Amino acid sequence: MDFRSRANREAAIEAGSVVAPRADRRRRILTRLFGWGGEALPLASIALLAALVAALVLLADRQERETRRLDLVRDALWVGEALDFALSSQREAVQRLAEDTQRGGLAGEAFAARARTLSAAYAEFAALALVEAGGEISAGAQDRPDSVAQMGLGAEEFATARAASTVSRHAVITGVVRPAEGGPALAIVAPASAQGAAGAFVVAQVSLDKLLAQQAPWWVAERLALAIVDADDEPLARRARGEADPAIAPHKSAFGPIAPGLFLTVAAYARPSNVTQNALLGAIAAMAIVAAASLWARARHLARRRESERRLREETAFRRSMEDSLTIGMRARDLEGRIISVNAAFERMVGWSEADLVGRAPPMPYWREEDIARTRALHDKVLVGDMPDQGMEFRFRRRDGVEFDALVYEAPLIDAEGAHRGWIGSFLDITARRQAEALAREQSETLERTARLVTIGEMASLVAHELNQPLAAISSWNAGMLNLLAQGEADPDVLRGALERSAEAAQRAGRILRRVQDFVRRSEPRFEPLDLAALAAECVERARREHRDGEIALDVTADAPAQGDRILIEQVIVNLLRNAAEAAQAQGAARRIRVTVRRIDDEIELAVRDNGPGLPPDVAARLFTPFQTTKEKGMGLGLTICRSIVEVHGGRLTGANAPGGGAAFAFRLRLAEQGEAATTGAPTGQAA
Ligand code: ADP
Repeated sequence: MDFRSRANREAAIEAGSVVAPRADRRRRILTRLFGWGGEALPLASIALLAALVAALVLLADRQERETRRLDLVRDALWVGEALDFALSSQREAVQRLAEDTQRGGLAGEAFAARARTLSAAYAEFAALALVEAGGEISAGAQDRPDSVAQMGLGAEEFATARAASTVSRHAVITGVVRPAEGGPALAIVAPASAQGAAGAFVVAQVSLDKLLAQQAPWWVAERLALAIVDADDEPLARRARGEADPAIAPHKSAFGPIAPGLFLTVAAYARPSNVTQNALLGAIAAMAIVAAASLWARARHLARRRESERRLREETAFRRSMEDSLTIGMRARDLEGRIISVNAAFERMVGWSEADLVGRAPPMPYWREEDIARTRALHDKVLVGDMPDQGMEFRFRRRDGVEFDALVYEAPLIDAEGAHRGWIGSFLDITARRQAEALAREQSETLERTARLVTIGEMASLVAHELNQPLAAISSWNAGMLNLLAQGEADPDVLRGALERSAEAAQRAGRILRRVQDFVRRSEPRFEPLDLAALAAECVERARREHRDGEIALDVTADAPAQGDRILIEQVIVNLLRNAAEAAQAQGAARRIRVTVRRIDDEIELAVRDNGPGLPPDVAARLFTPFQTTKEKGMGLGLTICRSIVEVHGGRLTGANAPGGGAAFAFRLRLAEQGEAATTGAPTGQAA
C-alpha cells in the first residue's frame, strides 16, 4: 500500500489494511461475543469437528461389531444346522447298518467289515460295535471296546436307549456319555435283531470333538470360536484358537430334537487391536491439537500485528499532525517530476488542494507563465540531482492570483527499502521577509538621504570654512599685486608668481566646490589606490608656503598605496596641518610640525604632531563635538568632518596630547587592493 499521499492513507484505513477506529469497534464486539480476540469460534469448531469425527469412528466401530455379530449368528446357525444334519445322517447310517445286520444276520467279521466301512465314512465315530443285550460287544471295528460301559453307556442308560429304540424301531441318540477313552460323546443305539430289547444292538460312539472338527467348515473355525456345551454351559467340545472377543456377545443355539440338552456356542475372536482405528483417532486428536496450537499462534501473531498496527496508526497520526502543523510547505515528487504528495501548508501556500495537485506533471498550476522556462530548467536540474545547498528562490502565483516568493530546498525521497523514489521539497514563504528587506532598504535609503542632508549642512559649513582660506589667499595676493602696481614696482616675475599663487588658490576653491557638488549629487566617495605619501608631501608643501614660520617636516616610510578618496583625504590632511600650525603659532620660528607616513601591518598611518600647547582639557574631553572651538574665528567643525571622512573609509581618527608636549593627531587607511595603480598625489592641473 502506498502511504505517500494523504488520500491513499485514508483509502488504506477505509480498506482496513490499517485498522480504523470503526474496524476496532467491530473487533471489540466480536471479541465480546466469541471471546479471546475472536479465536474462540474457530477453536470451538475444531473441537466439534474432532468430536464428530471421533463419534463417526466409534459409530463405525459399533456398526462393524454389529455386522460381525450378525455374521456370527448366521455362521452359528449354519454350523448348528450342519451338526444337526451330520448327526441325523449318522443316525440314519447306524439305522441302516442295524437293519442290514438284522436282515442279513450279520455278525462277527461281516459286521466288522461293514463297521469299518462306516467308520471310514464318518470320522466322528470313535467306536462302532454290535452289542448284545447284556452289554458285551460281539463285533465291531478294530480297537473296539470290550463292553458298552467302556463306550460310556451305563447299564441304565443302555437299557433306556434299548427300550427307546425298540419302541420306535429306529436308532436313537442318547444324552452325553463319557467313554473311557476320548472326550464326551453321544451314543447312537439301534436294534439289530428281531428279539427287540433282548436282542443285539448296533451302538456307535460319536465323539463330540470330532463332530465339531469334521462338521464346522474351516473358514468358520478360522473366524469363530466354536464349542458344544450342555445345559449348564459346561463345555463338552471346543474348537478354538484364541480368546473370545468380550465386545461381541457369543451366540448359543440348541441342537434341536436330535440331541436335546446340547447347545452350540459361537464366539468371535478378539482382534489383536484396531491399529487403523487407533491411528485414525490419534491422528484426529493430533490434528485438532495442531489446529488449536496454530490458532493460538495465529491469535498471538494477530495480537502482535494489531499492536504494531496501533503503533503505525499512532505514528501516522503523529506524522500527519506534524506535517499539517508545519508552516513550511512540503511537496513530494516522483522521479518523473509528478507530484505524489503535498501537506496542508503547501495547499494553503499555493491555494490548490491535494486532489488538484497529486498526479500533476510540470508545468504546475502555481508557476507564473512568464517564468515557466526558468522554473522548468531549475526543476529539471533537481531531477538529475543538481540542487544548490542554499536552496532556490522562486516566485509563484497562488490560485487567487496573488504572488509570493518561496525558498525551495530539495532532498532525495528514500523509501523503506532504501530505494530512491523521488524528491521531497520544502517551500518556505519568504514574501514577508522580502517585503521587510525592501522596507529596510527603503528606510536605510531615507536615512542615508537625511544623513546626506545633514552632511550637506556640514559641508556648507565646511565649504564656507574651506573656501575662506583660498579666497583670503586670493584676496591677499591680489591686494599685494595692486600695491605693487600702485607703487609702480610691477616686476612681471613677482607679479607672475603672485598670480600663479592666486590661480592655485582659486583652483583649490574650485575643487572643493566640485567635490561638494559631487557629494550632493550622491556620488559615492571614490575609493581608489591613493599614494598617501605623495598627497602628504603636496599638502605639506602648501602648508609650508602658508605658514612660513618654523618648520614642517615630512617623514615617509610607507611603501604601498592606501585605499581612499583623494579629495576627502586631502581635506583631512589640510585640516590637521592647519590646526597644528595654528596651535603652534605662538612658537614663531620655533614652530615644529612633523608629518609621518608609515606602514603598520596592512594599513598606512598618517600622523601630524606639533609643539603647540596641546589640547586644553575641556577640548580633549569633547574633541570631535561639532562647534567646539577655542578660536575666535573658528567654527569647531573641522575635526568632526575629518572624523566622518576617516570613518567613511573604515578608519578612525585619534587625537591626544603627545608625551613630549604638543598634540598629535593620526588616522589609518587600508592598503590598496593588489593590482590597482595608485593615483599620484598630484592630479592634473596641480603643481606641487
Ligand atoms: P576649529 O579649528 O574651527 O576650531 P576644529 O574642529 O578643527 O575647529 O578644532 C577644534 C578645537 O580643537 C580647536 O579650537 C582647538 O582648540 C583644538 N585643537 C585642534 N587641533 C589642535 C592642536 N593641534 N593643538 C591644540 N589644540 C587643537
